Amino acid sequence: MNPRVRFAPSPTGPLHIGGVRTALYNYLFAKKNNGTFLLRIEDTDQTRFVEGAEQYIIEAFQWLGIPFDEGVGVGGDFGPYRQSERKAIYKPYAEQLVVDGWAYYAFDTPEMLDAKRKEAESQKKTFQYDAYTRMGMCNSLTLTPEEVQERLARGDAFVIRFKYPEDTDVHVLDLIRGEVVINSNLLDDKVLYKSDGMPTYHLANIVDDHLMQITHVIRGEEWLPSAPLHVMLYKAFGWEAPQFAHLPLLLKPDGNGKLSKRDGDRLGFPVFPLQWTDPKSGETSSGYRESGYLPEAVINMLALLGWNPGNDQEMMSMQTLIDSFSIDKISKSGAKFSLDKAKWFNHEYIQQKTAQELTPYMLDVLKENGVGCDISYLQNVINLVKDRLNFVNDFWEQANYFFVAPTTYDPQAVKKRWKENMGQTLEKVMTLIESFHPYDMQLAHDAVMQYIADNELNMGQVLNSLRLAIVGAARGPELFTMIGVIGVQEVRNRLDKAVQTIEG
Ligand code: GLU
Repeated sequence: MNPRVRFAPSPTGPLHIGGVRTALYNYLFAKKNNGTFLLRIEDTDQTRFVEGAEQYIIEAFQWLGIPFDEGVGVGGDFGPYRQSERKAIYKPYAEQLVVDGWAYYAFDTPEMLDAKRKEAESQKKTFQYDAYTRMGMCNSLTLTPEEVQERLARGDAFVIRFKYPEDTDVHVLDLIRGEVVINSNLLDDKVLYKSDGMPTYHLANIVDDHLMQITHVIRGEEWLPSAPLHVMLYKAFGWEAPQFAHLPLLLKPDGNGKLSKRDGDRLGFPVFPLQWTDPKSGETSSGYRESGYLPEAVINMLALLGWNPGNDQEMMSMQTLIDSFSIDKISKSGAKFSLDKAKWFNHEYIQQKTAQELTPYMLDVLKENGVGCDISYLQNVINLVKDRLNFVNDFWEQANYFFVAPTTYDPQAVKKRWKENMGQTLEKVMTLIESFHPYDMQLAHDAVMQYIADNELNMGQVLNSLRLAIVGAARGPELFTMIGVIGVQEVRNRLDKAVQTIEG
């Protein structure tokens, strides 16, 4: 059977890049094995629902170039794919577990539970609702069937809890970690269903994975503690469990703990694919897209945080990643995020793109800075500065003078280069440059060099002063190439202005 995998985020806020990596590994696994990759929105916890989060998730995957085969926004034969729209499905499953002796109704009020907690605390213990305490609580195991019926009929608040068998080893077979064994005595009777008519994550997740015929559950390590319950639930329902793979954590750059939502803006890199503004607090967090990353670079970088192809290949397109992906090359230990590496990937991907491919990105940058320009001019500029770009947004800093003439001139460079009579010298140089119709970079270069030699001028001073007039600072690409791109007439205008400004 072809694998079916899912990405199952809860729409509680923007998607962390750890979540993006989880989705990516699911996608790579599905595509490698002719499988299906679906998006299920797990929104049963109404208290944590955040407006706009689902739309954000969909937009993020569109930007990243990770398409879903089925799910929210796509459709498919196993829908609906939003758990809140599946509400009616879960209750009969929870009730079936009660009938079969795998679960029970619990009516304990918050006050009763609190009293138990305090009592345990006074004995320096922690209260756990489990095989040892459940018989001292208010539930369908301790009440008579009549009392239970009466309470349910009356509409008393209840939850349905899972009933772990006592002292039983639960075996979780994990494709990354091997076999994980935990004794049921350590586990508490988790709530599966609440009287508000909503299942908890555990019940909905298992029922849906079963109904949607999920074959592999690939998810973050933070879900490993839930896996024993999930394994037991499959057993209780008499269903075959999918295979599990719990991915290693994404760590902070120093390796000290999980990469958190707050780390990004604190350490100078985004932890979210797209910029996000919290609808309640109005607080904005940066995104990879807005920070000038290319989606291909983000994908490549994330793919290698916790997985490797088994050789030292680093630059990998989506297709190459798909072809080389396998779960057995996912590492067990956490992967440290590295800003330098992210930057390196982005730089490399920018170099791989043609000026034409980069045009839409750069047009956005120009727009943000309020300038427009001719496309072929823009592409010439891109070719000239591309190798200096780590991020798309660096374009403005590296190339602004191609679009707006300088109005100031770096005083230090002026002092160092612009010696007496420089205005006169540059006038001669400019006349030489203007004498070629059309402009010829090589001929102009040779003529200027000859002039400098014949007049025993200081080459560095002359060329850098001309550069100062064009750029406003001592930087930029090769001078005669740059003159060709900017155009002789514009260079003439800039020179006249510089002479006037500097020499007065
Ligand atoms: N809704 C869970 C989450 O937000 C899904 C975990 C799982 O994949 O089972 O990550």
